[in-house]
Amino acid sequence: MHDLVIVGAGPVGGALALALAQTDLDIVALDARAAGSTMRGDRSLALSHGTRLIFERLGVWPHIAKVGGAVTPIATIDISQAGGFGVTRLDADEHDLPALGYVVSYRALQAALDDALAQSRVDVRFGTTAAAVGATPAYAAVTLAGTQDELLLARIAAVADGTGTAVAGIARERRDYEQVALVAKVWMERPHEGRAFERFTPSGPIALLPESDHYSLVWTMAPAKAPATLALSDDAFLASLAQHFGARVTGFAGVAERRTFPLALEFARTTIAPRTAVIGNAAQALHPIAGQGFNLGVRDAFELAQTIIRVPRDQLGEWSMLESFAARRRGDRYAGIAFTHGLTQLFATDLSIVRWPRGIALMLLDAMPPVKRAFTRKMLFGIS
Ligand SMILES: Cc1cc2nc3c(=O)[nH]c(=O)nc-3n(C[C@H](O)[C@H](O)[C@H](O)COP(=O)(O)OP(=O)(O)OC[C@H]3O[C@@H](n4cnc5c(N)ncnc54)[C@H](O)[C@@H]3O)c2cc1C
Repeated sequence: MHDLVIVGAGPVGGALALALAQTDLDIVALDARAAGSTMRGDRSLALSHGTRLIFERLGVWPHIAKVGGAVTPIATIDISQAGGFGVTRLDADEHDLPALGYVVSYRALQAALDDALAQSRVDVRFGTTAAAVGATPAYAAVTLAGTQDELLLARIAAVADGTGTAVAGIARERRDYEQVALVAKVWMERPHEGRAFERFTPSGPIALLPESDHYSLVWTMAPAKAPATLALSDDAFLASLAQHFGARVTGFAGVAERRTFPLALEFARTTIAPRTAVIGNAAQALHPIAGQGFNLGVRDAFELAQTIIRVPRDQLGEWSMLESFAARRRGDRYAGIAFTHGLTQLFATDLSIVRWPRGIALMLLDAMPPVKRAFTRKMLFGIS
């Protein structure tokens, strides 16, 4: 029997494996993808400063940072709303930090984690898909797909498969926002200088995140509007984008790789089951409005590793250990979910009655440094 089986060695499962790689635990990490491939090479991740610190502790940050264009620091975030007053700017200098956060290539991060794991004691098995995760009181049992009921037994299973669908008995909540995110790469006439923009518009928030030599655009809109926006010529698309930003952002020059995906809040009501802990997107998948989702997932992995390190091997996976992990994550997790969902609600409507308080909120945020600092800290480090 193994000590730990990790189902899904994506960025979160990989971070967990690496955080435990120096221990003498017998760890197997499964991933359905082929060695050297990434599931989501199309994606950029929004990393908080706190997440950078975790990747530094894991020793992978320098490896990601040395890949050209893989890490782009965010120096300032300019938050405004269309058709209303109130603007605020969050600035790294005000917080004595090198950056407010980072836009990081999923592909580069995954490659750095895979390389680090390949040099560790962790047994990583690519091309291996878990079909189900079950348990007895004494061990977790992971059934492998495509085999005649082959089981991997371990004291504890950590599910980081991005969806949590392999685990029986974990109730999930889903709230469809009835919006889609249109994402694309956007080029400007001038260098971005690390400035990010978040603009609240009648059709939903729009974010421009600096990435390498361009911006990564996340434009939320009603599903009915998306096909026509995708079909616009490049010039018409950029003109429409410019119209939404008004005078806040000018100089749109080019666009590529447009695509859409539906937006929903999905989270497991509890992240533990007998002999099993659920982490990362498998535990909570959030609206991208506040860039909190991936950071919460990395904190899940880090806290699970700390909990595992603290207990004697024969208590690994016992219910009391799992409850202690769930309790340590509860506040940060629910605050992250509530903060993100609250922002979607505060900025989701265009009723003028809401636009006013929203403008006042942005203005006050700008005028009240302690409040702004608290808001920024939440964005930077999470709640814990
Ligand atoms: C459509 C979409 C767009 C997003 N865009 C952004 C964005 O622009 N910026 C941002 O910061 N965040 C974004 N996110 C969120 C971000 O992708 C996640 O926070 C992050 O990928 C979570 O990492 P993870 O390791 O938990 O899951 P994943 O990245 O999903 O990794 C899961 C891993 O598990 C493996 N796996 C899956 N099933 C099995 C199985 N049964 N057996 C074995 N292995 C398995 C997969 O191969 C994969 O390697 C987006 C999410 C979605 C759904």
